[in-house]
Amino acid sequence: MDGVSRQPAGLCNTCCHQQLVPNTRGSVFSLCRRARVEPERFPRYPRLPVTRCAGYEARAEDVTEPGAG
Ligand code: SF4
Repeated sequence: MDGVSRQPAGLCNTCCHQQLVPNTRGSVFSLCRRARVEPERFPRYPRLPVTRCAGYEARAEDVTEPGAG
């Protein structure tokens, strides 16, 4: 347990463009870094959970290797 509950961010939780931003009250917000370069396409704080996103790219560490383990 890390004491910080993640929001059910949907796709963002496995996306390489997500940045988790903690606030002083112990909440963690899901920020989309694509919003910096394409603000007209991606909101900085997308409405969660994100279930479809044209900008989604899986994070390398979340890709499960077949046969591993
Ligand atoms: S690109 Fe889409 S899925 Fe990825 S963090 Fe941004 S809003 Fe979430």
